[in-house]
Amino acid sequence: MKLAARVHQITPSLTLQISAQAKSMKAEGIDVCSFTAGEPDFDTPEHIKAAAIEALQMGKTKYGPAAGEPLLREAIAKKLRQDNQLSYEASNVIVTNGGKHSLFNLMLALVEPGDEVIIPAPYWLSYPEMVTLAGGTPVILPTNAQSGYKIAPEQLQEAITSRTRLLVLNSPSNPTGVVYTPEELKAIAQVVVERDILVVSDEIYEKILYDGVEQVSIGSLGAEIFARTIISNGFAKAYSMTGWRIGYLAGAKELIDVVTAIQSHSTSNVCTFAQYGAIAALEGSQECIAKMHQSFAQRRLVMLDLLAAIPGFTGAKPNGAFYIFVNIGTTGLGSLEFCQALLKQQQVAAIPGLAFGADDHIRLSYATDLLTIEKGMARLKEFVSQML
Ligand SMILES: *Cc1c(COP(=O)(O)O)cnc(C)c1O
Repeated sequence: MKLAARVHQITPSLTLQISAQAKSMKAEGIDVCSFTAGEPDFDTPEHIKAAAIEALQMGKTKYGPAAGEPLLREAIAKKLRQDNQLSYEASNVIVTNGGKHSLFNLMLALVEPGDEVIIPAPYWLSYPEMVTLAGGTPVILPTNAQSGYKIAPEQLQEAITSRTRLLVLNSPSNPTGVVYTPEELKAIAQVVVERDILVVSDEIYEKILYDGVEQVSIGSLGAEIFARTIISNGFAKAYSMTGWRIGYLAGAKELIDVVTAIQSHSTSNVCTFAQYGAIAALEGSQECIAKMHQSFAQRRLVMLDLLAAIPGFTGAKPNGAFYIFVNIGTTGLGSLEFCQALLKQQQVAAIPGLAFGADDHIRLSYATDLLTIEKGMARLKEFVSQML
């Protein structure tokens, strides 16, 4: 079969490969400790489920507007004004099938063949693939532990060419958990404005922060950067709604109208009754976020402590999300080799950093119970001590 050229440029997800292997080992009855989860391990809060069930019973089972239920767009705009100091109205918002779909829609709307999109590494593995699928060229900006896994404004400045359309910013970050400070964002915003490019801010982990760190949206730092910012966010991580597939994109109305046209010809509206669950998530009590956060915060400290006891292992102390990005450079192994051996010898599953553009790292997710964390870290220690 002759396939379109664009499919030859995409790589199958490395994260899925290791997860699938871990799953099949579990199915065989093997005691696997998995740190591969890219989603909270809690159920969706009851009041959110109840709202969707009620909507279903009320007959919210038909096609809706492609841009989303007006009530939800309104609630999202209000959330963006109140939580993020972004002066959006409902007409600046489109509801999408998840944050991933928001970003994919955006790339289709903005990127042409030859256009460059700047992506700091380590990056969420889908960013470069989306740019490539849209016909554009991902330009990867490397960072490391010394730079706190953050890009410097000078680095951005140097990477911008006449073909640069967009910078992808993800704070708090998957996979590093790193959060940019307001000062760092200001410096980046200045470059974005001066060079007149756009920035998409993926804020999906905004509610999962530690040690008193606060979320600041780059778009809130002045009128000029606001005009050049697009916000991508969703309900998956904050409200443990990954399977619901609801996200949103916010930006200039002229852009949102175009994205709505793309969506109207591809997926149409997001599942109608699911959107009523999302309305309840925004308008109901936010206590559920605090409860999940408490668990994450405790697990994070336990995992950091146990990792610190493994000689030669260092990672940036993450200020957000639910991942720890660990440098395995001292072992001399590539991340894929490391993860395969770890799974085989100690039945511990981790995601190779190669998937995120950092082959000397692995990603450990602590969206799992404390017992698994304690057992898994002991096995990891054993694995490393046998190697060194
Ligand atoms: C999980 C995630 C998303 C969005 O996920 P959806 O389930 O599509 O809403 C976006 N960006 C990053 C970095 C993520 O980890």
